[in-house]
Amino acid sequence: SKIRLGIVYGGKSSEHEVSLRTALSVMNAINKDKYDILPIYVQMDGSWVKGKVTDQQLHSVDSLRLTNGTASASATNSELVTHAAVPTMNFGQELDVIFPVIHGPNGEDGTIQGLLELANIPYVGAGVMASAVGMDKWMMKNIFAQANLPQVKYVGLLRSQWEREAEAVYALIETQLGYPCFVKPANMGSSVGISKAKNRQELAAALELAAKFDRRLVVEQFVKARELEIGVLGNEQLLTSVVGEVIAAKEFYDYEAKYKGAGTELQIPANIPAEVSERIAELAKRAYAAIDGSGLSRIDFFWDEANNQVYINEVNTMPGFTPHSMYPMLFQAAGISYSELIDRLVKLAMERHEEKQ
Ligand code: ATP
Ligand code: MG
Ligand code: MG
Ligand code: MG
Repeated sequence: SKIRLGIVYGGKSSEHEVSLRTALSVMNAINKDKYDILPIYVQMDGSWVKGKVTDQQLHSVDSLRLTNGTASASATNSELVTHAAVPTMNFGQELDVIFPVIHGPNGEDGTIQGLLELANIPYVGAGVMASAVGMDKWMMKNIFAQANLPQVKYVGLLRSQWEREAEAVYALIETQLGYPCFVKPANMGSSVGISKAKNRQELAAALELAAKFDRRLVVEQFVKARELEIGVLGNEQLLTSVVGEVIAAKEFYDYEAKYKGAGTELQIPANIPAEVSERIAELAKRAYAAIDGSGLSRIDFFWDEANNQVYINEVNTMPGFTPHSMYPMLFQAAGISYSELIDRLVKLAMERHEEKQ
């Protein structure tokens, strides 16, 4: 009999539209002889809707230049189910496994994972702890430091601290890191709220922007480097993909560059020495294990070519997952197709669920 797969997508975060694209791609690509799919849409206001994607959602996805098909374009036979906890309890009888393809807060951060744990349903991807640690760049960096992973210098701070004593915060950043530096909300993705600061005035503006998205903030030393990314697949036995490179035409790989395709090029595999890919694969596995990852992660690195130094930047436990996103393409190059990747992720979800019993 078929595997009943729930796809939870959308969500309250600023990466809502990215999630729609991923969900549509998964629904289109999946083997319909093997799976029965139940799409579950988490609307911007946080309410859950069972049923197919609506025209309006597709339209917003179109505006992001979805290059993939639009199979389930029509029906709006959705049924409103108000609060998260209620539907999942019922879904437990209706579904064998859930693929939560929500990026960012309330999706990639352990909250939905906790809900699915409570409902006792297997789900694709990282568990509660890995999701939470992977989402919060400040906590993630603390864990990386503890695991002796090479990374750029950073300072973590609370919004309230900056509001209370801005001058002291600027002085600390200037002594510890200097300019230019990168300012980020701790819990975000797709470069939302991130900016580069070259002086105190820009630092103030950058912190103000980041503080709109999160109460936890991270400031990092700027590193002039090539951006390399690798995929990890597995629970305890890990498989790494080839290494890919992001070549952004803009000053950095920001939201526009990521989703409007503004001159960004993905080079797969990256044109780098074998020893650098091996080093990245080794560091990626260590980072994945350090956060207790499972299912999948895309791990981002910086390679300072002049000094031949590799730094880990971050782990993304629910990376962009359309057939044209980096993670699936990295595994495609390693010989695992998009639909096989989905099959493997579902299998890993079931295995982890078994192992916990
Ligand atoms: P995503 O999850 O979409 O990969 P994100 O929002 O989690 O992105 P980061 O990957 O941390 O954000 O940073 C976004 C981009 O900003 C990087 O891809 C890189 O181009 C640039 N960047 C971030 N930190 C630094 C740094 N310390 N030095 C130089 N460039 C940086
Ligand atoms: Mg990220
Ligand atoms: Mg990144
Ligand atoms: Mg992250």
